[in-house]
Formats: sequence, structure tokens, C-alpha cells
Amino acid sequence: MEKDCLFCQIAAGSRDADIVYKDDDMVIFKDIHPQAPVHLLIVPVRHIRSVNDLGPEDGPLVSAMIARARDTARDMTLDGSGYKLLFNVERGGGQVIFHLHMHLMAGWKY
Ligand code: 5GP
Ligand code: ZN
Repeated sequence: MEKDCLFCQIAAGSRDADIVYKDDDMVIFKDIHPQAPVHLLIVPVRHIRSVNDLGPEDGPLVSAMIARARDTARDMTLDGSGYKLLFNVERGGGQVIFHLHMHLMAGWKY
């Protein structure tokens, strides 16, 4: 836990968020400035700065994040229409919150 990190605070429950899923390893909540009709953030509880900081030991965590995103999309009946999973990596990749997170975006008309 990094005390000045927004997403550590949300994961620890000391900062409000619209949480849709939580377990010991990750939390999923609604993005405060949605860029899509459905815009969720899948966030590990443990503070990891970005994809650049993932090690081989983090394989199960990343796999669990993707599987949970898929299950959440299915529970919201977004699986048929489809969705986007996205990591922004460091400033040049559009990352502004330096606690690893995966965007789940969906709900566009097609
Ligand atoms: P990034 O650009 O770092 O990949 O994405 C960070 C995302 O976090 C942005 O889409 C932004 O809207 C969202 N965000 C930033 N601060 C907060 C917050 O305090 N609460 C929530 N729910 N989302 C946030
Ligand atoms: Zn953090």
C-alpha cells in the first residue's frame, strides 16, 4: 500500500469508488470519467506501477485479471456484443495513474 496512491486507497477502502467486484487480489470499479458507455477498471490490490514492473511471478495475477474481466463482461451481458481490454503503459502510453490497471470498455452501438 502506497499511502499517496489513489488506487491503493480505493483497494484499501479508504477512498470511495463505485465497486463492482472485490476479492483479496483485485478490485473492479467504475471509471470516474468514462470513455465508453461501460468503463471499468480492473486493479490489483498490490501496488505495481505499470506493465513494465510485472515479473514472471505475476503471470497468475494478470491471468486472473483477464479472466475476471471476461466474467464481469459476461455477467453484464456484454460478451456477445464485445468489449475492449486495455493497458496504458507509462506517460507516452497514456497512463496517468501509476498503479497498474486494465480498462474494460464496452457498450458502443455497432
Ligand atoms: P490511465 O490513463 O492511467 O490508464 O487511466 C486512469 C483512469 O483512472 C482514467 O480513465 C481516469 O478517469 C480514472 N480515474 C482517475 N482517478 C479516479 C478516481 O479517483 N476514481 C475512479 N473511479 N477513477 C479514476
Ligand atoms: Zn497503488
